[in-house]
Amino acid sequence: MSAEDQAQQVELREWERNNASRPAPVKYKPGDHGYGPAHCVSCDDDMHPARREHGFDLCVPCKTIAEQAGNQYAR
Ligand SMILES: [Zn+2]
Repeated sequence: MSAEDQAQQVELREWERNNASRPAPVKYKPGDHGYGPAHCVSCDDDMHPARREHGFDLCVPCKTIAEQAGNQYAR
C-alpha cells in the first residue's frame, strides 16, 4: 500500500469519526411525507428543490422576513 493510500484511509477514518457523532441531515425525496411543497406557502413563489428536501415550506425571502419578525417580537 502506498503512502498516499494510507493517508486516504486515515482521512476516511477521521471523517467517519467526525461525522458519526453528528445527526444525519434531514433529507426528503420527492413524494416522501415531509417533502416541501412546490410553492412557498406565503408568497406562492417557486421553492428551491434543496429547501424542499429539508421539508421547508417557505422560500428564502419569506423565511428571512419571518425570522426578522420573530426576532422583533422576541425583544
Ligand atoms: Zn415566499
